[in-house]
Amino acid sequence: MDIRLHNTLTREKQVFSPQNPQRVTMYVCGPTVYSYAHIGNARPPVAFDVLFRLLRARYGADHVVYASNITDVDDKIIAAAAETSRPIAEITELYERIYREDVGALGVIEPTHRPHATDHIGGMIEMIETLVKKGHAYPGNDGVLFDVPSMADYGKLSGRNREDMIAGARVEVDGGKKDPADFALWKAAKPGEPKEARWDSPWGEGRPGWHVECSAMAKAVLGETIDIHAGGLDLIFPHHENEIAQSECAHGRPMANYWLHNGFLAMDSEKMSKSLGNVKLIHDLLKGWDGEVLRLALLSAHYRGPLDFTEALLNQSKATLDRFYNALRRMDVEAADVSAPNGVMSALCDDLNTPLALAELSALATEANKAEPADWPRFKGQILAAGALLGLLQRDPEDWARGDASEADVIDARVAARVAARKAKDFAEADRIRKELVAEGIEIMDGPDGSTWRRV
Ligand code: AMP
Ligand code: ZN
Repeated sequence: MDIRLHNTLTREKQVFSPQNPQRVTMYVCGPTVYSYAHIGNARPPVAFDVLFRLLRARYGADHVVYASNITDVDDKIIAAAAETSRPIAEITELYERIYREDVGALGVIEPTHRPHATDHIGGMIEMIETLVKKGHAYPGNDGVLFDVPSMADYGKLSGRNREDMIAGARVEVDGGKKDPADFALWKAAKPGEPKEARWDSPWGEGRPGWHVECSAMAKAVLGETIDIHAGGLDLIFPHHENEIAQSECAHGRPMANYWLHNGFLAMDSEKMSKSLGNVKLIHDLLKGWDGEVLRLALLSAHYRGPLDFTEALLNQSKATLDRFYNALRRMDVEAADVSAPNGVMSALCDDLNTPLALAELSALATEANKAEPADWPRFKGQILAAGALLGLLQRDPEDWARGDASEADVIDARVAARVAARKAKDFAEADRIRKELVAEGIEIMDGPDGSTWRRV
């Protein structure tokens, strides 16, 4: 079964064909670590985690190399450090750790490489030097600029016309630009900027521009031409357009063969924004919802389209997972070692159609619920294999049914207290505990091996 992916560069869904099936390469632009990530920021890592899983299933886990960077030098980081009077490294290490914990809770597999911008400054300087040498870059007043008119096919990814590109590039300071569309490759250090945010270079002390960071890191860990490059829709211009400009002018070959972009997440149909006060952090959502519920909600829409994030969606996602886990729990047998059913596989191979894959999984659960016990091992195996591709359903169904772990510990302790009371022939106390638990919707099952419980 071919994997087909929508390529922003060609504006078509294409059969995915890696340069080397023994080493399939993928790069997803990662976070700038200066504060907590919001749930919209979780969409690229979760959507492309499904792609990572699909590619691993197809080419073998050891044959897919996935890199996602950490941007640990940036204006916003410098500002956050100055505001809180903390060293830059303290800020970036803290928020990187939180980011990794947050996306980890959403079931995101750790990428093969997590390059840090500050570990690749040498490669960035080298790339800028090459660009200057080849006539694609020049020193400006406060650093080095990329010479946009020097690249004949600049703009091919976004398809923007020149006026729009100039308007887009205006947000950058002028700094002696020859052309209004030119952008910064190296930014000279400004007076008062901290030591940790400046490096020596042939153009004086300074730091790299954001775009060249990704170009250099992708080259360093994956190579000059990678198979897949991905990120959110907003990165098409200028970020990815400029990555293409830098890498292709430096190396004389395509930067990536397939460019994938996820659509935007909105909160209750409104754009998430600080001014509307509707920005939801992953970290905060995880206090009220299981990470798997958030993940399912994120996968409920096709990655390219918009996603409307609502309380109703979360409730529905929780109910869907309850249903899947209940189906697994009911089939009290060892799962057969089978692969994901065709329906789920072909949905994912068709440009990561996760809503269709979830619908297929749901139909499978319905069938499983009606199946004869003799067929349970196969159904259970298929549901688990489909779940593994989507990054779902890998927990013990009993644990899931009991709710979150800490809560389960408390209930375990209360059930144990009841057992102890019975042993001590304090039946009034045992009964009191049982009634209390029943009132909370927890059923106790007394068996020969002791007492267990479940939520009803
Ligand atoms: P930023 O921190 O804004 O650079 O964003 C980090 C990543 O999250 C980028 O790939 C963005 O495209 C993506 N992103 C930011 N906001 C949203 C959103 N509301 N929905 C989906 N993706 C987003
Ligand atoms: Zn990038």
